[in-house]
Amino acid sequence: MIGLILAMLNEPPALSAMLSDVSESRLRATVEKLASYPTRNTLSTGLTDSCEWIADEFRKIPGVEVEVMRYVAPAGRRVPEDKEVVQVIATIPGETDRIYLMGGHIDSLNLQVQPTEVPAPGANDDASGVAASLEACRILARQKWPCTLKFVAFSGEEQGLLGSTALAKRAVDEEWQLEGVLSNDTVGSSGNIAGQSNTKQVRVFSEEGDAHNSRELARVIEWTVRNTVPNFDIKLVLRRDRFGRGGDHTPFVQQNFNAVRFIEVHEEFTRQHTPDDRVEFMDFAYLAQVTRANVSALASLANSGVAPTNVRIVRDQGHNTTVTWEATAGIKYTLYWRDTGSTEWQGAIPVGEVSRHTVDLINKDDHFFAVGAEGGIPVVAE
Ligand SMILES: [Zn+2]
Repeated sequence: MIGLILAMLNEPPALSAMLSDVSESRLRATVEKLASYPTRNTLSTGLTDSCEWIADEFRKIPGVEVEVMRYVAPAGRRVPEDKEVVQVIATIPGETDRIYLMGGHIDSLNLQVQPTEVPAPGANDDASGVAASLEACRILARQKWPCTLKFVAFSGEEQGLLGSTALAKRAVDEEWQLEGVLSNDTVGSSGNIAGQSNTKQVRVFSEEGDAHNSRELARVIEWTVRNTVPNFDIKLVLRRDRFGRGGDHTPFVQQNFNAVRFIEVHEEFTRQHTPDDRVEFMDFAYLAQVTRANVSALASLANSGVAPTNVRIVRDQGHNTTVTWEATAGIKYTLYWRDTGSTEWQGAIPVGEVSRHTVDLINKDDHFFAVGAEGGIPVVAE
């Protein structure tokens, strides 16, 4: 078992082939199907029906295990009384129980009138994130990974993050080794009606905390995408979510998991939660690029070994910086650095199976350093 894991770590998967397999037409077909339900409001039959449909789509992928998870949406904001509802979890079992999770919310909302009875196509918010998750699963399921990968179609998002809250609690109760959550919510349009457009970036929101490493998850996603996905990169946003808004990553952060949110750069607010959230306003070439960013990030994370511990900067005075850490046999490491004024890693060097490395002429006064298992979430050196 251990030997197999190490062998796989030493053989990088053919990432460029996976990225070129991301299909705009499959993404469009998924979004069109989901948007064809009159509504996917969490309290409607459209939610149950669309969950059954997406579960069947995941079941068509060889090697994928599918669960329709039931939980109670408690009475509260936008929920008149307690109601049992469903959401869908698809799993690619890995060689270990370390887990990375990607998801989008399948439920939609029309805020204008009686919410369960009026059209709510929810094409961009958030059939786009569900379609990206299904497509990423199709591509990543073609090989075995050291880590387990889960793909979730959350429900109850629009009623107050109910499905993600239920799953985050379950992950704690069942002691999941959940190392990272990539929530994709509203990722299928590159421009707004004011004429602003950005086809080259997707925003990744992350917050800092003492008990989780979400910001470092965001930073390594940015580094990975910048170096692997042609003509596309990540715009890091250093806050929990957009001003006054929320998303399915946050309940995971609140349970001390590393979790971030992907969202397009220029949202069109007037179409959200209205009958105008339609397929024709989307950009599937853009959604394909966002999907590639997720596939690349997940491939890197899922292929990584366990993170190093006790990562330290040696307290000498000099122009070079030496970093030490506790290594695990057979794992290769990467050392990163950035100027304290930069939000992104500016350099990285693969250092191999060692527990110490000296970077010449980059000083520890003006720079942060971190060490990660190759492709994994780095640990900041102290
Ligand atoms: Zn949403």
